[in-house]
Amino acid sequence: MIIVMKQSATPEEVNHVVEKIKQLGLQPNVSKGVERTVIGVIGDEDKIRIQPLEVYPGVEKVMPVTKPFKLVSREFHPHDTVFEMSDGTKVGDKKIIVMAGPCSVESQKMLLEIGKEVKKAGATFLRGGAFKPRTSPYSFQGLGEEGLKMLRDTADQLKMQIVTEVMDTRTVELVAQYSDMLQIGARNMQNFDLLKECGMMKKPVLLKRGLSATVTELLLSAEYILSKGNFKVVLCERGIRTFETSTRNTVDINAIPVIKEQTHLPVILDPSHGTGYYQYVKPIAKAAIAAGADGLMIEVHNNPEEAVSDGPQSLLPKKFHILMKELKPVCHAVGREL
Ligand code: PEP
Ligand code: MN
Repeated sequence: MIIVMKQSATPEEVNHVVEKIKQLGLQPNVSKGVERTVIGVIGDEDKIRIQPLEVYPGVEKVMPVTKPFKLVSREFHPHDTVFEMSDGTKVGDKKIIVMAGPCSVESQKMLLEIGKEVKKAGATFLRGGAFKPRTSPYSFQGLGEEGLKMLRDTADQLKMQIVTEVMDTRTVELVAQYSDMLQIGARNMQNFDLLKECGMMKKPVLLKRGLSATVTELLLSAEYILSKGNFKVVLCERGIRTFETSTRNTVDINAIPVIKEQTHLPVILDPSHGTGYYQYVKPIAKAAIAAGADGLMIEVHNNPEEAVSDGPQSLLPKKFHILMKELKPVCHAVGREL
């Protein structure tokens, strides 16, 4: 249930409604927008049906949330969510965020080399997996905590934020200790225990769309995180499995405006995993920004031929520089900054 307050509602009137909701044993969630305040109510909605909240001073309307996801829905929170990282970087704002780096953390040396380049080109987040979800158990599984330390050292030197994957509820604390944003990968989008655990952390979460997940399923997964109190969630379209085999996955560009319409959470796109080939990364990155994405996640490697994972889809640093340069006019054309 959501309660939309009148534009003219005073803070006292808002408080009055909030207190009443609490008295009914329900949980209020106040979202103060520029225009008006919306109060989301969580709990047994029947209690509100018998309580005529419409007649309270300052209340414009009381409406049910029609979507299966509530905290995540735009009905619940009509304004775009914008949150700040520890260095002041705003996520979900007019300025596009760019996360770039290797697929896997391989060494401190390579991280620093790649990190310097992507930072120079304008990326604010350094990406890189220390815990890797690999299709084969015999493939490189990641450097674990050693890799997290390398990420932290490099990001501190370069004054960047880290986004890195957490795969297991048992390592959430550990990954949160070293990183600035917790990434939940496509394969774990419906690992509900992991979602809940990350929901109890203070660190923002990047939630990637599952390989065969619908937008509704993605939003319900995000709801798990928000329902545990962590509202700093970014959604990531990274391509889905279709019958098409000429690319690794099929980027669902539609998902960007659809997600933007249904939720207030920021959404970014990963054209590297989305296409699987470096030569398609640039056009799809541009398409994502034109479609309304709030950011991009891009794999960059200084020696893609020797990369331990995802070499074919990784951009050389010089190609990443070109991409960033060419993205600028696209951002400006849609009223964004880079
Ligand atoms: C990644 O970003 O490193 C990754 C493994 O991506 P995804 O979960 O989208 O496959
Ligand atoms: Mn990868």
